[in-house]
Order: sequence, then C-alpha cells, then structure tokens
Amino acid sequence: MVGVDQVLEKLSTVIDPDLKKDIVSMGMIKDLELDDGNLKFTLELTTPACPFNVEIEDDVRKAIAELSDLKNFDLHVTAKVMEGRSLDDDTGMATVKNIIGVASGKGGVGKSTVSLNLALALSQSGAKVGLLDADIYGPSIPLMLGMKDGSMNVEENKLQPADSNGLKVVSFGFFADQSNQAAIYRGPIISGILKQFLVDTNWSELDYLIVDLPPGTGDIPLTLAQTIPITGILVVTTPQDIASDVAVKAVSMFEKLNVPILGVVENMNHFVCSNCAHKHYIFGEGGAKKISEKFNIPFLGEIPLNAEIMTGSDLGKPIMITNPDSPSSDAFRQSAKNIAAQCSILAAKLQEEMASQSHDKEPLPDASTN
Ligand code: ADP
Repeated sequence: MVGVDQVLEKLSTVIDPDLKKDIVSMGMIKDLELDDGNLKFTLELTTPACPFNVEIEDDVRKAIAELSDLKNFDLHVTAKVMEGRSLDDDTGMATVKNIIGVASGKGGVGKSTVSLNLALALSQSGAKVGLLDADIYGPSIPLMLGMKDGSMNVEENKLQPADSNGLKVVSFGFFADQSNQAAIYRGPIISGILKQFLVDTNWSELDYLIVDLPPGTGDIPLTLAQTIPITGILVVTTPQDIASDVAVKAVSMFEKLNVPILGVVENMNHFVCSNCAHKHYIFGEGGAKKISEKFNIPFLGEIPLNAEIMTGSDLGKPIMITNPDSPSSDAFRQSAKNIAAQCSILAAKLQEEMASQSHDKEPLPDASTN
C-alpha cells in the first residue's frame, strides 16, 4: 500500500513555474492525511491571483494519478499570500504583507486608473487589498470610485479607511478642505502626511496595499522608499513614454534606494477596433521588447486604449466593476496575476535571505561535545 513518503516524492516533481521550486519544499502541501489508500491534502498557493493556479493543480492531479493503490483522492486548493516585505519593523504596519508602489515618469499615463483597476482585480481574486492614494497634489482615486464626497473617520487615534468595492481606501481627497491647500505644501509636511497615511491608518489584515504615487521622483516616492520596507515598485508607462527618458529616471531612483522593481505595465498600448476586433498598435508594436531592453525589468502586462476604461474612471465606475468580462478587464486581471507572482518571487527570496541570516547567527557547534 502506498505511503506518505511516496506521495511526497511524487508531489515534489511538481514545480511552481514562477518560484522555480517544487511545491513540497515550498511548504504548499498542508494537512496531508493518508488512511488505508484514502488520500487528502490541501494545496496552498502563494497568492489567490497565481497565474499558474490551473497548471499547478493539474500537475498535482497528474502526479497523484501515477501512484498505484490509491482508493480515493480529495484535493482542496487554497491560497495564503506570502510576506513580500520584512514585517519585523516598529512602524505598526505588521499586518500588511505586501506594499506595492505604483510610479510613473510623468503625469497622464494612466497610473491612477491602472492602480485602481489592478487593486480591484487583486481583490476580486480573493485577496485582501488596500489602496492608498498618495498623489497628495492631485488625488483622483475618490472621483474614480464615485466617492467625491467620501470621508474618513478617526477612531482611537487611527484613520479608518473608507470601504469601496471590497477595497480599503485612503486618500487626501477625502479631506476636502485640506486637498485644496495641497499645492502649497512642500517637503517635510508632504512627507509627514504620507507617513501618517501609511502608519496611522487602521489597515487591519491586508495581502496587498497598492500605493498610487504622484508622477516623477519627488518627495512622496522618496518618503515611501525611505519610511517602511516595501515589496517593490510597479512602473506604468505608455508607448510614447518609452521613447523618452522620464520613466527611466523613476526606475533608477528606486534602484539607487535599493527598492526592488517588480516590473512595468504598458498602458494605452493598443487599440481594439470595434468593427474588425483586431488589435491595432497605433503607437508601434513591440513595447515589451523595448521596455525590457531599456529597463531590464520584467514586462507584466499591456492595457488597451479603450473609451470604456476612460469613462469608467471619469464617471466613478471602474471597468473592473461595471464590465469585468471585457477584454480590457482581462488585461488588468492578467497584469494583476503577473504582479502577484512577482511579489511571491520576492517573498520567496526574502524568506531565503532571512533563513540564511538566522543560520549565520546560530552558534557554532561546541567542539568539546563532538
Ligand atoms: P495619471 O494617474 O497617470 O495622471 P490617470 O489615471 O488620471 O493618469 O489617467 C489620465 C486620463 O487617461 C484619464 O482621463 C483616464 O480616464 C484616461 N485613461 C487612463 N488609462 C486609459 C486607457 N487605458 N484607455 C483610455 N483612457 C485611459
């Protein structure tokens, strides 16, 4: 009769394509029970937005089918998001597993639109998601969520984020009086506001906190990079943006600060004709290649230029909510999966580093006891 060792041996032939490691050594097999040929266990993926969830489950079923003498097999698939940042800090953000800053070289590339729809895509996959609108000079997220008159409460000295479509949202736009004043705020005041939004908010448990940064390389991106450990930066570009060096500047600022770059999403990358349903690359094709040559960072997705995306943002009805089955929503979903995968890759790297550090700290074996 088949034993637990044989089951684990078979399962360790299944490799997570993103993490490039087998699912047994990654600790993805939980609650394994084998009783008289009846096998059951839980496959715990590293994110509910895993791009390879179907493939990994298929590979698990195929591997188990190769075992003889099994009477019954019961598989439960779940996900637990990995910590992509060190939670070992005293900033009070230990309940937020991943922080993703969304940056762009210049304004108007659709960074806020992309931040919001990606946050919604991650949330719809089953993850707990927060959205911090850190564009203090021009907060647009309340408008995009139809919450122009929204507000935030303070309870026990903590900001309570607003709830919208499953997201926990914080924005300077919720402080109507102050946001008119924002243009006159400079350096330390701006940094102070961002720090408060980050650490004095009752985020509760979050898998991903998306931080929509202002464009460029000013005080706010710098403060984010220097205040708390973050998982990484997502860069939003447009095809025209690639031709200039503005996005490169943003990437190199974060690289100099040792903040990982998750990758780049190209917005308004193509246009799908409503007559012929063909993709037209009106600004030229091959964005992914150009981006990887220019930045040497992963290409995580392309979002079409689409009037429905624009009206969704402008009318406070994001396309991920109003038309989740559209090709544009699919594009956001695919990008969100790739971003979640990059977070898992960085989390696995972090775990390895922490394990090797704690190993280094272990006292050397006492020679006299050998
Ligand atoms: P940013 O945050 O970079 O300044 P926004 O997200 O505010 O940019 O977007 C700028 C404008 O472009 C908005 O009117 C928005 O609706 C529109 N927009 C953004 N992405 C798209 C897209 N993929 N297709 C069509 N319009 C878009």
